[in-house]
Amino acid sequence: MAFLTSLFGDANKRFLQTLATIVVDVNSKEQDLAKLSDEDLRSRTLELKKKLSDSHAASTDQLSAIENSLRLAASEDEKNRLHRARIELLNAPLNELAPDSFAIVREAAKRTLNQRHFDVQLMGGLVLHYGQVAEMKTGEGKTLTSTLAVYLNALSGKGVHVVTVNDYLARRDAIWMAQIFHLLGLSVGVIMHDAAFLYDPMHVSAEEEERRDEGVALEMKFLRPVSRKEAYQADITYGTNNEFGFDYLRDNMVYEMTQKVQRDLHYAIVDEVDSILIDEARTPLIISASDTRPTQRYYQFAELVNQLDEKTDYAIDEKLRAATLTESGITKLEKLLNVENIYVQGGIQTVHHIEQALKAKTLFLKDRDYTIKDGEIVIVDEFTGRMLPGRRYSEGLHQAIEAKEGVTIQRESKTMATITFQNYFRLYTKLSGMTGTAETEAEELAKIYNLDVTTIPTHRPMIRQDNSDRIYKNEAAKFAAVVQEIKTRHEKGQPILVGTISIDKNERLSALLEQEGLQFHILNAKQHEREAEIIAQAGAYGAITIATNMAGRGVDIKLGGSPHNEEQFKRIVELGGLHVLGTERHESRRIDNQLRGRSGRQGEPGSSQFLVSLEDDLMRIFGAERVKGLMKNWPDDMPIENKFISKSIESAQKRVEGHNFDIRKHLVEYDDVINKQRMIVYGKRDLLLQTDLDNEELLPAMLRDEMQQEIEYALDSFATAPATAEWSTKELVEFLRALLNPTPPQLKELEDLCTSADAHAARAQLFEKIQALSDLRFGTVRSTVNKQMASPTKKYPINEIIRSFYLRSIDILWVEHLETINYLRTGIGLRGYGQRDPLVEYKRESKDLFNRLLADIRRQFVFALINIGTEATGRPAATDGQERLTEQKDAVSVFGGAEERKTEAPTSKPKDTSGKKIGRNDPCYCGAINPDTGQVYKYKKCGLINAPYHKQ
Ligand code: ADP
Ligand code: MG
Repeated sequence: MAFLTSLFGDANKRFLQTLATIVVDVNSKEQDLAKLSDEDLRSRTLELKKKLSDSHAASTDQLSAIENSLRLAASEDEKNRLHRARIELLNAPLNELAPDSFAIVREAAKRTLNQRHFDVQLMGGLVLHYGQVAEMKTGEGKTLTSTLAVYLNALSGKGVHVVTVNDYLARRDAIWMAQIFHLLGLSVGVIMHDAAFLYDPMHVSAEEEERRDEGVALEMKFLRPVSRKEAYQADITYGTNNEFGFDYLRDNMVYEMTQKVQRDLHYAIVDEVDSILIDEARTPLIISASDTRPTQRYYQFAELVNQLDEKTDYAIDEKLRAATLTESGITKLEKLLNVENIYVQGGIQTVHHIEQALKAKTLFLKDRDYTIKDGEIVIVDEFTGRMLPGRRYSEGLHQAIEAKEGVTIQRESKTMATITFQNYFRLYTKLSGMTGTAETEAEELAKIYNLDVTTIPTHRPMIRQDNSDRIYKNEAAKFAAVVQEIKTRHEKGQPILVGTISIDKNERLSALLEQEGLQFHILNAKQHEREAEIIAQAGAYGAITIATNMAGRGVDIKLGGSPHNEEQFKRIVELGGLHVLGTERHESRRIDNQLRGRSGRQGEPGSSQFLVSLEDDLMRIFGAERVKGLMKNWPDDMPIENKFISKSIESAQKRVEGHNFDIRKHLVEYDDVINKQRMIVYGKRDLLLQTDLDNEELLPAMLRDEMQQEIEYALDSFATAPATAEWSTKELVEFLRALLNPTPPQLKELEDLCTSADAHAARAQLFEKIQALSDLRFGTVRSTVNKQMASPTKKYPINEIIRSFYLRSIDILWVEHLETINYLRTGIGLRGYGQRDPLVEYKRESKDLFNRLLADIRRQFVFALINIGTEATGRPAATDGQERLTEQKDAVSVFGGAEERKTEAPTSKPKDTSGKKIGRNDPCYCGAINPDTGQVYKYKKCGLINAPYHKQ
């Protein structure tokens, strides 16, 4: 084909040639389809669906083989290879249907939108279907292109997501393209921030029908409000990256399977894929809960635990750093709190907080574990003895200590769930994207997302004139020139789009233009809908529009204004089309290209130029020195246009791009660790949610299994020594008392085993015995609960309790784990690891923490459940209702703060001058003298707590 010029790389060119043969195939079907009635065209969808389901079964075995290997694959390369093999396999049956389905979509577009997919758009559609990124210039019609791959992949009925950068575009594209899908019998949903819709043309009046093709200001009339779940049930769902991501997170916080709104993530097409997967990838999505728990409760609990007695009411385990209530302790608390059953009426959280209060009271000591400074609890590092201001204990322990010490309890917002876009979008079985600017980021897209980039030629040759940069000595001179340039072009009536790099600069420039008495529009990427209307007119006669990069994205700039007016169009064409004036180079070439791309769409005339100054950030930071030298004796208002300087700007950009890529890669490496853990935890949740509550044995068997592990764990911790005399019998007995509340004879029997001569046999017998006791105990709980709470709808109420207790344990501790890991991640860069790689250390420590998390979940769950008590009367509350969730696209980088605090880094354990380690009771190495005793302070009273008299 003639348009496959040498502009494109060889591989790209060869690939396009393959696509071109398929395009020929699609074109050959056009005439026949044109003869069909709408009805018959729609029935083609059913035919294709049928063909697809017939061909699908064939590859299931192969597929599960690949999926198995994928789970086991060790190296990234291997994973990538398998991932690609999997997509190829999944695509195979669809590939056969591609020519037919593309021809059908094109026919439907002709009938509904009066637009016929260009051949290059068919190529783009194929690229999207293959699970790649299609680079198609701005204005080439990516919205229409996507319909081809959407339709083909929606045939399986598993759902296709079209991801846009803002709510306005989601709605616009859905309403616009749904006409095609509707004709073909597919349903279209839209999810927005606070609402969800299904496309329903019966929802319109005739006059609105007419306005629809303007594609700008849209009424909501075509959209019928539905539940989020219904919108996801649609064949095709439009929405923003944020909404899709948040829905995923929320779905993994539910307590019933039916509360989930999303289905499995099957296929997504991401529009403006570079913005979403690259620019926005540095900040994760976070759902946080502002902690609205009344702080009063912490003080109350601190009071309460003072009334408990060690031994009878609670057990302390120094080794596990745990405090557990005994049966008698619980009964006492129930009396004090005046409730019948603390687990049922208060929920696990109450018990959890009481245990934290206990911990605070018994295991955390002032001036050893923490100090009080300016009315705040400051943690003391257990290894270095330094104070760690700003750090907080997790799990509500910090608040418990604050309550114990009677200082003000600080509120904090907790991260409930978080995910990066990288990891969210990697969840899709197949992912693809489209944008005008991907080529410069091809390496990143391939490495991180497995996405190849294919550049699609433009429909008509591009004739925009990209002029080389004009460089000024300082910013003032540059802005003066910008104003002059705008005035000159404006006087002729040529429309101008001025790009700035920030809202600040936007405002500075608008002040200058006001001084000149010029009329202009200013866009800050804040109100997408209103800005869309404005930018749609940016090509009108005499229009001046100032916009930041994000403003009005995705909206077509029509020469002569919108709607199309042939006379106005010709007038603007004669003036040279839209002129794009960049006032500063961006950090990456890609963003510059996005700005230029606003002009010269679909072979229209246009021009672009950047005016820059040596004072611009990019120039200041990167290598402007040589240029400055060159311009030393140059007049302010005289620009240089010089190849060498343009080159040096681009190389500065390349360096920034590389730097940013490194940061993102780094983020991904760290995030992979938590991602794996998240998958395990979410998988566990799903398993629980899917368990059949009407099966009498499933959940009790699971509990029993966990109980067994817990017993083994206890025996491993306390009873491993080869002689029973060396066992930690006291701790073991405490543990058993807390867990099983044995009767005195039972306890005696257990204790006797701990003194038996044959440790090995004793251990085995202990295991049996404990198991039997726990079975007995749970048996009572189970039959009581099942008897008392049975209802016609709930055959086995105990199942519900087991499940909800388990889910609660997972959720509470997972949230705390997230916090701990976050501390670990910010802290890891601060530690001295010698030659060791912090990432490796991070991975190792995260793994330990995760194993501990799993054990903690098990313990909390088992203890809570077996201690429900026998008088259970109500259902544990599903949520505490104490937390208000907010979603947040975190504004700061995940690594924020790590750099600045480097100087505070604790290095290693304190040693005295001879290199010997210092004990807590040894004199402090600093030698500070206590004036009261005339002796050197003990280390624990000086360096350990970083006391004011401690000499650094
Ligand atoms: P992009 O997202 O690639 O920048 P859009 O999808 O916004 O482009 O489309 C730009 C303009 O081109 C729209 O006004 C659209 O209606 C028009 N367009 C796209 N494809 C066709 C086509 N095949 N025939 C006619 N007009 C088209
Ligand atoms: Mg677009």
